[in-house]
Amino acid sequence: MNETLTIALSKGRIFKETVPLLAAAGIHPVDDPATSRKLILETNRADVRLVVVRAADVPTYVEHGAADLGVAGKDVLMEHPGDNLYEPLDLGIARCRMMVAARPGQSTPRRRRRIATKYVQSTRRHFAAKGEQVEIIKLYGSMELAPLVGLADAIVDLVDTGNTLRANGLEPTEHIADISSRLVVNKASLKIKTTAVRALVERLAQAVAASKEAASCND
Ligand code: AMP
Repeated sequence: MNETLTIALSKGRIFKETVPLLAAAGIHPVDDPATSRKLILETNRADVRLVVVRAADVPTYVEHGAADLGVAGKDVLMEHPGDNLYEPLDLGIARCRMMVAARPGQSTPRRRRRIATKYVQSTRRHFAAKGEQVEIIKLYGSMELAPLVGLADAIVDLVDTGNTLRANGLEPTEHIADISSRLVVNKASLKIKTTAVRALVERLAQAVAASKEAASCND
């Protein structure tokens, strides 16, 4: 039986870095989401299609079985603990770090520190583990602004080169987690479409191993 697979992906960096891995697994999208407005992308394989969703929505699509598989940042998965997902493979792409950042030399306030972030769950867990009580202010973007205008004492955000923090006069102060994108799989899909899902996970794992090896040869 030919089992159709739907893979949920977000636009931008994750899409760009996933395409070569899919290509190594023999899957080539027919359209590019950077230029197409289509949200369902056919591929060269009649049995594989991609759906383009917001990064934070990937786990939801996969958890509910609207997609069999997905690619999601560990940052997103840490905010979205779900029982219906397997996370079988670290794709090693879209790497960055989740960090606390603040203005250099900032004195500790006598009240609870205010931390602005869109990563509320990860922030709560991080400070709870340290035994520090903080007030978390939920933002949806431009976190770097919050300490500059007195909304927060520090932020929790993703840091790659550190340029965004530097440009806004902030510096990283605490490391929370190393982040990369993960392949996630709907548990029922793995049971029902075992052969197709396993074959794809296996080919992606080989592609990840090959790209790691190529990277280490270039070091
Ligand atoms: P950078 O200036 O290179 O440190 O990048 C920081 C900015 O890019 C912040 O706004 C982050 O939220 C965003 N960013 C960096 N890496 C990632 C990633 N892997 N996934 C999503 N956003 C990222």
